[in-house]
Amino acid sequence: MLTHAPWTAIAGLRHGFLDRAEYMRSEGWQRPLGSRDAPLPLVTARQVHGTRVVAADPGVPPPEADALAIAGSGFLVGVVTADCAPVLLVSPARRAAVAVHAGWRGAAAGVLEAAVEYLHTELGAAPDTLEAVIGPTIGPCCYEVGDEVRKAFEGRTGRLTAPAWSVRARRLYVDLRAAARLLLAGVAVTTTSLLGPCTACGAGYSSYRRDGAGAGRQLSFVGWA
Ligand SMILES: [Zn+2]
Repeated sequence: MLTHAPWTAIAGLRHGFLDRAEYMRSEGWQRPLGSRDAPLPLVTARQVHGTRVVAADPGVPPPEADALAIAGSGFLVGVVTADCAPVLLVSPARRAAVAVHAGWRGAAAGVLEAAVEYLHTELGAAPDTLEAVIGPTIGPCCYEVGDEVRKAFEGRTGRLTAPAWSVRARRLYVDLRAAARLLLAGVAVTTTSLLGPCTACGAGYSSYRRDGAGAGRQLSFVGWA
């Protein structure tokens, strides 16, 4: 499990990025989440590559959403990914957090900005006080995409993500984490860290691009004890 060192020093904050093997062993993901502390309930969503942000509620069936927000303590929110970017947004001052599933469709459509807006308007956390960590994601080494992907980003945000795109041997590649970081910076979230390898060519992670429909998943979670 990968963790962001500065966040491990924040009292009560729990987070982590599980790899594929930890996901396989975890029996509903509860065991690794509770291995070092008292286990906390985990809330996940039915992810649909959209932009909807939902307040997590352990007492109801998983909502259809790609960003789960948490205010207060006692449970965790998580996203599952296999190449898409898992993005954890935290407000240490407000003890609030959002777990975001950001594939290219969701990122292009604005799920990251929607999560930042939710933290600001619903949970009182100003964007420039937020901290973001982006976990293992398919990298620009492996993520060849069609021009419709670039058009989807440019259609909404113009040249904002320009540094995230590259062309090699007349093929188009995108650095999804760089694009996510630029989109966050575009709404004043400038404290962003990247954690872990490319899911497709790094060891230990599930990759939809590499393994196809049979790919596993990995879980990333955040919350307050
Ligand atoms: Zn790679």
